[in-house]
Amino acid sequence: MNDRSIAYFSMEIALAAEIPTYSGGLGVLAADTIRSAADLKVPMVAVTLLHRKGYFRQRLDANGWQNDEPAGWTVENLLEEMPGRAAVTLEGRTVQLRCWRYEVRGSGGWRVPVYFLDANLAENSAWDRTLTDFLYGGDQHYRLCQEVILGIGGVRMLRALGHKNIERFHMNEGHASLLVLELLDEQIKQAGRPSITHDDIDAVRKKCVFTTHTPVPAGHDQFPMDLVQSVLGRREVYDMKDVFCCEGRLNMTYLGFNLSHYINGVAKRHGEISRLMFARYTIDSITNGVHAATWVAKPFKELYDRNIPGWEQENFSLRYALSIPKKEIWHAHGEAKRQLIQRVNRETNLGMDAAVFTLGFARRVATYKRADLLFQDIGRLKNISSTAGPLQVIYAGKAHPQDHGGKELIQRNFQLKASLKNDIKIAYLENYDLELGKTITSGVDLWLNTPQPPLEASGTSGMKAALNGIPSLSVLDGWWIEGHIEGVTGWSIGEDGRGLGAEDVDRSKDASSLYEKLEQVIVPLFYHHRDRFIDVMRHAVAFNGSFFNTHRMVLQYVLKAYFE
Ligand SMILES: *Cc1c(COP(=O)(O)O)cnc(C)c1O
Repeated sequence: MNDRSIAYFSMEIALAAEIPTYSGGLGVLAADTIRSAADLKVPMVAVTLLHRKGYFRQRLDANGWQNDEPAGWTVENLLEEMPGRAAVTLEGRTVQLRCWRYEVRGSGGWRVPVYFLDANLAENSAWDRTLTDFLYGGDQHYRLCQEVILGIGGVRMLRALGHKNIERFHMNEGHASLLVLELLDEQIKQAGRPSITHDDIDAVRKKCVFTTHTPVPAGHDQFPMDLVQSVLGRREVYDMKDVFCCEGRLNMTYLGFNLSHYINGVAKRHGEISRLMFARYTIDSITNGVHAATWVAKPFKELYDRNIPGWEQENFSLRYALSIPKKEIWHAHGEAKRQLIQRVNRETNLGMDAAVFTLGFARRVATYKRADLLFQDIGRLKNISSTAGPLQVIYAGKAHPQDHGGKELIQRNFQLKASLKNDIKIAYLENYDLELGKTITSGVDLWLNTPQPPLEASGTSGMKAALNGIPSLSVLDGWWIEGHIEGVTGWSIGEDGRGLGAEDVDRSKDASSLYEKLEQVIVPLFYHHRDRFIDVMRHAVAFNGSFFNTHRMVLQYVLKAYFE
């Protein structure tokens, strides 16, 4: 157990629908990374917070207004309590921590332990006991205390559990950056020095890896220095320019960058954008993926098992999907689609028809994802459905509890159901989670993605769709710049090459492009050239399923960041 050499830190991890400690793509990526590490026998251990009250459960009332319900879960039934204890100091108080373990078991039996830190102990004050309750809840102060627990408490807990020889600490986004302070402290203690030298900084830097996940400013945590001082006390490193850089604020991204020997963005374009945003740093890119065996629905799993034995371990062999007979692809897709349509009809009573061309859109609700772009010109959309061929649309997605604008967006989309009901059936399914995500990304005919470039760092739901033979219609941003071959793996909305910092000026242009592709190309292909449509499905698997998976991604981390 103490032979693990990579420690992966993430504020959220989406291991199972019944462990609601995630809000979206960041957590899904973390879990898929761990699953692939287990399959590939990478010696990894992961650290996160318990989030005993979960993220939240989404209920939509009759008007489509989102109500946020607590998503408590029974920790004791799903995780195993560990004997190790650690402590952190917050505002001079000692906060005791325990942890719980969940083991991810790879296809060959290799296990990666995930440790969930828990501050809910009788020794702690009532408020401190709540610090591991809510994911992205509370104010800045609460959040900073959580990040102390994750970063500093996480390293201490690993030591307490016997993980003494960790060679790499991978920060999955800046929430875990404070771990570098603990590593610096360990370093000077070991060297028997009273204060930090450049050698200590170099030694820590060799151990650390940082992945940045978004160009959106809100995704980069910053805390005022007086808050940091009051929580963590006065520290020598605050005055070290090559560790703490910015006047009056602690920027978690810079802190992680400054102490990492390898920094990456999560797609090629996101790497470019990050190099523009953070010009002082060397930033590489490793494009995200998804864990293939997790995201392939049963009918496609059976299809691949028959045609491409070994695909779950050797994801690259999915390229041979090109020789799977079209009839079989269509049959498997029909099965997955029926399951989705049944669920929609059970939950919404809409009477959707499995023969109708079905678009899917499921996302964490964030403004830049433009979930309403499809409805920019409702008349035009109706016209496409009545002339090119009938359409129906399936939506899902949660807005952050404090995001009033996001909730309004959900409500607008929800209410279109009524105004379009004679033309286009629209379902808004409640409580988007891992399980619903799998059902939607495997059951629609086309995956729609409409972010405002260049703000989608990668995006992964289109990769899940591709693994299930579902092509994307997407703005050229994030992974789609790499995965898109027009008319071969799917279709683009608009042109490539929009710059950083652009307002959403191309909105109506993007909407027209979206409508044109649907009307002129995709809907006719689906209804009148089914053979060619299935050929696009096959290429989605062969080009994109074979590549945009976490097996390939983890191998790149091994080559470039972990054991280089
Ligand atoms: C895959 C997934 C996401 C991330 O999807 P993006 O396309 O990257 O936004 C978010 N939430 C759930 C439940 C998912 O399954």
